[in-house]
Amino acid sequence: MKKIIPCLLALLLNSNLPASPDFIRFEDYFTDETMRVDFYQTGTKNRTIISLDKIIREPGWAGSLTNLLDTTNFGEHRVLIMDAQTGQPIYSRGFSSIYSEWQTTDEAAKGIYRTFHASVRFPFPKKTVVIILSSVNRKNESTEDFRLIIDPKTELIRRFVSMKKFQPKPYLKSGNPHQKVDLLILPEGYTKKEMRQFRSDVDRYAKVLFSFQPFSAMKDRFNIWYIEAPSEQSGIDNPALNCYMNTQFGLSYSTLNLDRYVFPTENEIIRDVAANAPYDFICILFNSPKYGGGSIFNQFSTSYSRIDSIGEAWWPEYVFVHEFGHLFAGLGDEYYSSIVTYNDFYPHGIEPWEPNLTILANPEKLKWRNLVENDTPLPTPWDKVGYDQLPKSSKDFTLFLRSQKYWGKVGCFEGAGYSSIGIYRPTLDCIMFSKSIEGFCPVCQNAILQTIRFYSE
Ligand SMILES: [Zn+2]
Repeated sequence: MKKIIPCLLALLLNSNLPASPDFIRFEDYFTDETMRVDFYQTGTKNRTIISLDKIIREPGWAGSLTNLLDTTNFGEHRVLIMDAQTGQPIYSRGFSSIYSEWQTTDEAAKGIYRTFHASVRFPFPKKTVVIILSSVNRKNESTEDFRLIIDPKTELIRRFVSMKKFQPKPYLKSGNPHQKVDLLILPEGYTKKEMRQFRSDVDRYAKVLFSFQPFSAMKDRFNIWYIEAPSEQSGIDNPALNCYMNTQFGLSYSTLNLDRYVFPTENEIIRDVAANAPYDFICILFNSPKYGGGSIFNQFSTSYSRIDSIGEAWWPEYVFVHEFGHLFAGLGDEYYSSIVTYNDFYPHGIEPWEPNLTILANPEKLKWRNLVENDTPLPTPWDKVGYDQLPKSSKDFTLFLRSQKYWGKVGCFEGAGYSSIGIYRPTLDCIMFSKSIEGFCPVCQNAILQTIRFYSE
């Protein structure tokens, strides 16, 4: 209360004061539409150039009318929109990119240059605005990559025309998109004849998502939409088997040379189909029985939808929920034992921005300190050597974790973020750590809850 009263008094005494960031009135700055800025990120390991592709006026704005400025500091990039006349920040959002992931690969380290397409979306401005894109590297150093002053009346802005064949269908409609999280599910590698299968997959995955906390408790904060966008052929590309398909979004296994990694590089096509729906987040289900998926914070998540003879029945559902955790709440991978394609993804001694990973530089300032009981030591002991020695085929990983003294407690367990030393996760098990049916740990749940509230208020 102490903070609020002087602020209110000041506003009452002098209504000409520039609005504080907490008091941005949506209707003063924005129309109920979306501005989408498409751009290219080009570069190599240590060098980035951003070039503008195009600006598009999309119908409707699905996001919040009140939470316009991002307070989380999640993601490797930021988009900041300022009123050009006053310099007032009026919208900001963090996001990550396939480009910044690629920058940690051997290819980028060799000095090869590559280009990736990406988009940012924000409510359509009424007056001239400044658009700033910046990157925050793993050492928490921020660089401005791009700045553009744009008059919303300029003829350079294309107007998006909705496409009848891609009309969105509601799976779950809880209310006005401004006050709900709008999740859009798109099909990849489903032919026209397989749309019934896609609809049944939407139903299956939505039920799985809402079987986990905190999604179950907050189901009424979600709208779920899907678009029946059929592919010419069934399945997706798998370069390892020299198998190529004609599909709607061009998804492929072996993204960034990692067999199980499937992440879209045809950003523009996906955005154009998605623009027909109100959405905050996009999940793509791809019609394949081979284990795989991928996700980047505030971009897309993908997951496979059928099982082969090797997989266990719940794996596709696990992948869907795990990848959604990355996309939605910026959760980091808590595992450390699987092969990845990155080098120094979390540089030594640098605190990750992900809400569920830490280097534990100072236990008193631990970001999830409020969830740790006083008698839980930090770091929290567990038999990592014993765990690492379990045979890979073992079905006893969960039993082993359950036998540990600090099972069920929040602490700091070493081994996370693709590194067996120096990075810590909040609990022994979590859906971000293993193919677990344990669900999200309390720290991940907290981050998800914050995101749900941010988008639905
Ligand atoms: Zn977790």
